[in-house]
Amino acid sequence: MPKPKNYILGIDLGTTNSCASYVDDHGIPRIIRSSNGTTTLPSVVSIDKNGRPIVGQPALDHMITNPSDTIYGSKRLIGRKFRSLLVQEMVGIMPYNIVSGTGGEAAVLMGGQIFDLSEIASLILCEIKEYSEGALETELENVVITVPAYYTDSQRQAVKRAGEMAGFNVNRIVNEPTAAAIAYGLNKNYKQRVLVYDLGGGTFDVSVLEIRDNDFKVIATGGDTFLGGIDIDIRLTGHLIENFKDHMGKDLVKEKIAIARLRLAAEQAKCQLSIMKTTELFVPFITEINQKAADLKLMITRDTLEKLSVDLIERTLSMCDEVLETSGIKKSSIDEIVLVGGQTRMPLIYDKITKHFRKKPKKGVHPEEVVALGASILANPTIAVSPVTLKDVLSIPIGIAMNNGKFRIILRENTPLPASRTFKLTQNRAETLMVDVYQGNRERIMENEYLGTFCFPPPEEDEKGRSLDMRFELSKECILRVSMRNPHTGEQDLSEMITLQTPHSLKRSMEEALQNSKMEKSTGFRAFAQRILGMER
Ligand code: AMP
Repeated sequence: MPKPKNYILGIDLGTTNSCASYVDDHGIPRIIRSSNGTTTLPSVVSIDKNGRPIVGQPALDHMITNPSDTIYGSKRLIGRKFRSLLVQEMVGIMPYNIVSGTGGEAAVLMGGQIFDLSEIASLILCEIKEYSEGALETELENVVITVPAYYTDSQRQAVKRAGEMAGFNVNRIVNEPTAAAIAYGLNKNYKQRVLVYDLGGGTFDVSVLEIRDNDFKVIATGGDTFLGGIDIDIRLTGHLIENFKDHMGKDLVKEKIAIARLRLAAEQAKCQLSIMKTTELFVPFITEINQKAADLKLMITRDTLEKLSVDLIERTLSMCDEVLETSGIKKSSIDEIVLVGGQTRMPLIYDKITKHFRKKPKKGVHPEEVVALGASILANPTIAVSPVTLKDVLSIPIGIAMNNGKFRIILRENTPLPASRTFKLTQNRAETLMVDVYQGNRERIMENEYLGTFCFPPPEEDEKGRSLDMRFELSKECILRVSMRNPHTGEQDLSEMITLQTPHSLKRSMEEALQNSKMEKSTGFRAFAQRILGMER
């Protein structure tokens, strides 16, 4: 039996592909190949005819025959509410069924069973654990997992949970562009201001970092977790459907298997058009017309693809400008641009960035592997010639709902991490005080992402009008903890984040419970929440 080694994995849990890395015995970060011999694993989960989950390439192969039971792009859904606008948008686009989980979060239906998105992600992580253990011939327990910089607290928590479900100790969650910058800059003695432009399958992130030797300091970040290669595929698939309708007189929109095949063909054509100017797209027997097999055959040019997607790419550039502007950073002060994510292989992106910044992006960084490499370096900082220090920032503001429906920001974007802020609340009335916490940058509360509700039990008669200190703490990996203190008595942690339901449904259940006079103060708030909401915490 080989001696167990304490390797710590770095995993880039991607929307389209995932990738794992470790630092070998000579201190060199290496990518671990999947069972198929590839450096990345398709982030796809399906179910076989015996009801067993399958992951990676075999699941991707299932997409054609069983699109309703094949889950891809789930990284966009994880940690989100089913009712949120973005999830509702995906309900109409994805061939599989997106449903509401028990706590109101988005979940998926696979093989007739409801899976929450942490379970789906954990199946991908389990597969990575298994093939990595096979490759390294040792058990692996510890991991650093990357997430988009623009992930909310709920999304980060859901990924952490997925790692734990897969049997890992999640040592750290780190932002993808930050991990990429570490892999790019480690031990190079750079003194640079770097912009990381990260366009993967499902998400876009932009981060600006100051690199001083092995000191990495994020100074600004932004992005969109609903913008990536998938959106370009959707545009091209739409174009194929229109073209087929015009020439063959049949609308394929409702044919799920045809759409799944078109989507895969569109993605392939998109990738080929990064090398060639023209490609032929051929999907045999896409449908039946007048009881005869009909094929889809079409020449696609790079020019057509670019016209279909240019506005999406321009949106990424506007986001870069916004991030620079809000942080007072001049475009001309950027020393290097590092491209991350498979979608940045598209020549239009390279050209647009070069024109926009009047600077050619840096070549020589592997866009699909650099994030996982950075994560494994961060997991094994001893390989650095001088200590690695990393300072990240909060990417999306966190705040509370005001009575007028407005959002009061408590922690602003680009606040250096770790961070904390305390503010005072007055509890006048003899009733439970509820504070809804949101994350987002919209003025109207409902347009932001709901994180949860904090409840404070009613004050005693002689304590009415008491003021409480509500404290928001963000860890260095941007995970939120809220606590409440009564400064007069010194009592700590009066509150609990009791639910991830919508505030509306929570309030309804609270009101019902109060009407039934079932609230017994003496049993404490935790018991109260458990009884009313059926929650075990
Ligand atoms: P990632 O999340 O970094 O694995 O990136 C995946 C995305 O990159 C998917 O949308 C792919 O279709 C896209 N992609 C991969 N290779 C290429 C390529 N050669 N040209 C254009 N897009 C690509």
